[in-house]
Amino acid sequence: MIRFDKVVKKFGDHVVLDHLDFQVARGERVALIGPSGSGKTTILRLLMTIEKVSDGVIWIEDEPLTHQRKGDKLVAASEKHLRAVRTKIGMVFQQFNLFPNMTVLQNITEGPVHVLGKSKTDATERARELLKTVGLSDKENSHPTKLSGGQQQRVAIARALAMDPDILLLDEVTSALDPELVADVLDILRTIANTTDITMLIVTHEMGFARDVADRVLVFDEGKILEEGTPTDIFSNPQQERTQRFLKAVL
Ligand code: ATP
Repeated sequence: MIRFDKVVKKFGDHVVLDHLDFQVARGERVALIGPSGSGKTTILRLLMTIEKVSDGVIWIEDEPLTHQRKGDKLVAASEKHLRAVRTKIGMVFQQFNLFPNMTVLQNITEGPVHVLGKSKTDATERARELLKTVGLSDKENSHPTKLSGGQQQRVAIARALAMDPDILLLDEVTSALDPELVADVLDILRTIANTTDITMLIVTHEMGFARDVADRVLVFDEGKILEEGTPTDIFSNPQQERTQRFLKAVL
């Protein structure tokens, strides 16, 4: 379970997340939607511990994410604690972020071998299974620059899954793709959603994808949750005028 408890995030005086409270159950798929600048990516970056909360606490399974218990107090977490936390959480970015000088196979086995300490043989076997899942078995020796955007994104998904994450964070994973490449990537993510119990937080401007994959949709505006509900609630019967305006603009 992920729990945001009065989380505040500021950049200077700019309050990006404003005493945010929400929970995501284990195995739940939650889509985060809302206007540009409403704080969605910041939520994912806090979970990846790329950014630190200004106030409040994020809990994962009753353990504080960026804090450690010291007696009955919470103190800022050590780098070692953060490194351990990061191995449980995978993230796929809009811009793929593959290692350009490594082959597809090396991109996928790097984390399992160097961070999780898996043997090269085991990591390679798992990487090949994942390449099959994402339909790229014939590309294991290619370098990322030789692949299309859609193929690179599929490698990035395989790389995140190779770490066996409990939580997968998807940040506008189709935004940088040509329209004809989007469908393949979304199909793979649907398959993962249907065949694993990984908790997924999905920031997306693809409302069709949010509708298909999410159990619940959170609508953000100015660092707060404007409303939440099932995809049917939000897309067919939004309650807030601000949500109605947003959906009208993107649908
Ligand atoms: P989009 O849909 O455009 O990606 P978003 O809802 O994901 O938007 P965020 O990327 O979380 O929004 O950004 C929220 C606000 O925080 C924006 O106003 C942004 O300019 C600001 N912001 C984000 N990161 C930083 C940073 N490192 N330094 C200063 N301001 C930042």
